[in-house]
Amino acid sequence: MQADPNTSPAAANLAAIRAGIARAERDSGRRLGSVTLIAVSKTYPGHAILPVLEAGQRVFGENYVQEAAGKWPVLREAWPGIELHMIGPLQSNKAREAVALFDAIHSLDRPSLAAALSKEIARAGRSPRLFVQVNTGEEPQKGGVLPAGLAGFLAACRDEHGLTIEGLMCIPPADEPPSAHFAFLAKLAAEHGLTGLSMGMSADHEQAIMLGATHVRIGSAIFGARG
Ligand SMILES: *Cc1c(COP(=O)(O)O)cnc(C)c1O
Repeated sequence: MQADPNTSPAAANLAAIRAGIARAERDSGRRLGSVTLIAVSKTYPGHAILPVLEAGQRVFGENYVQEAAGKWPVLREAWPGIELHMIGPLQSNKAREAVALFDAIHSLDRPSLAAALSKEIARAGRSPRLFVQVNTGEEPQKGGVLPAGLAGFLAACRDEHGLTIEGLMCIPPADEPPSAHFAFLAKLAAEHGLTGLSMGMSADHEQAIMLGATHVRIGSAIFGARG
C-alpha cells in the first residue's frame, strides 16, 4: 500500500528526497540505487513513522538505544525487512543492547567501544555492519576518531578486536562548508580500502552524493523539524 502524499507530508517529503537522490546519482555518474537513504526517525513516535513505512521506506536511523528499543520492536513485527542504523554516540555499556537491536552502527570511535562490541558480537553470534566515525573538523565536543589516529584505530579494530569495518562516517562542523569534509572523508576511506561512506544530512546530502556518499542520513527533511 502506498501512503497518499497529499495527506501525509512525510510521505511527500520522502518522495521528493528520493527524487533528489536519484538526480544526484545520475549527475555524478553513479549507479541508480547505489546510495542508501537512512530515514532518521529520532524523537519521532511510531505513528509519525507509519506513513514513511507505508511509502516503502525500510532503512531507519536512531540516535539513542533506549528510544530505539522502545519503539522499533513493535514496528518490526508489523513491517518485515526493516533495517535499523545506530547513528548517535554509543556508550560501551549499551553495546549488548545495540548489537541485539541494530543492523549497522555508524559511531564506532574508540578502543573501549571496539572491545565491548567485539565481545557482544561474539556472544550474540550476530554482527551489525560497522562504520568508524571520524571527527574531520577536530571539534572537541564531537565524537569521532581524529584523522591522525584513524590508521591506528582501524588496525586495532581489525587486529586486536577482530572487527570488520565497512566504512567511515562524519558530521561536518555546523559553521563550515561541508564539501571539504566530505571530500576528506572520501579520501581517507579510499586510502584505507573502505567502500562505505556515511555522510550527508537533510541540508547537504546531494553534495555528499556527488562526493561519493553511499549512505545519507536524513531526518528533518522527511519528518519535519524536531521539537
Ligand atoms: C539527527 C542526525 C541526522 C539527521 O539530521 P537532519 O538534519 O535532521 O537530516 C543525521 N546524522 C546524525 C549523526 C544525526 O544525529
